[in-house]
Amino acid sequence: MGQCYTVRGAELLVPAAAFAALGATAGAAGGSVPISVGAAGGSVPIPSLDSSAAPLADPEDSFVLPSRDRVARQAADSGAPEGWDWLPMRSVIRTVPEVIWAPAAKAMAFANWRVATRFCGVCGSPTRDKSDELARQCTACGQLFFPRISPAILAVVRKDGKLLLAKNARSTTGFWSLIAGFVEPGETFEECVKREVMEEVGIEVEVDGYLGSQPWPFPDQLMLGFAARWKSGELKPDGDEIAEAGWFGPTNHPPIPGPGSLSRRLIDAALGEMGG
Ligand SMILES: [Zn+2]
Repeated sequence: MGQCYTVRGAELLVPAAAFAALGATAGAAGGSVPISVGAAGGSVPIPSLDSSAAPLADPEDSFVLPSRDRVARQAADSGAPEGWDWLPMRSVIRTVPEVIWAPAAKAMAFANWRVATRFCGVCGSPTRDKSDELARQCTACGQLFFPRISPAILAVVRKDGKLLLAKNARSTTGFWSLIAGFVEPGETFEECVKREVMEEVGIEVEVDGYLGSQPWPFPDQLMLGFAARWKSGELKPDGDEIAEAGWFGPTNHPPIPGPGSLSRRLIDAALGEMGG
């Protein structure tokens, strides 16, 4: 707590100099890092943009993060403050080490949650920050709303020394990645892996185990990686979520996501194990 981040949807306000330097220092692991949002001993005092925002309906509410609309309108009018720039959080993730961007991503997840819980989902009345715990409470019916986390799996599926990669039908990046999907109520992680792989590419898999996790604030996912093995069936992309799918080795794979994400880390590890 104490560190202030100003976010606008999926963008973070950063010093303009750092924004310019990001491109120049991309991938310089271990070198100097142009922004250090939230890092111990090197925090950047990010200015608040909401000082001129319209007053909230409830003056006792301590909610200070502006809504997406309000920030967007402000940005359209005046842009970022002098010397600052909006940078997509995904660019920050791709460019600087996780220890640097993780606190900002956490702040963004809280901001997303607060924007999404300004009104009670039960009765529609405004909510307010609860003073003694991290929650929003309805001012009329008392319903509590805690920060939401949406667990989602990533499936590292292998067959005959090859890795399953798939191209999302709606993706504009051209990247191929792991099969992914949200865990449904009443489902274990293992069941989710089996269901998502079956639904999206039509094959049956055995789940071998857990590989790691990463919070992902777009808007509130917790990504969980699992190793799996092909059991039966031929790849048959569903055509809805997945346009194409195939088995790949370290030397013949299509474009994969940029660094920073758990999916990239898992893909690198799986391809690395296959030798090359
Ligand atoms: Zn209510």
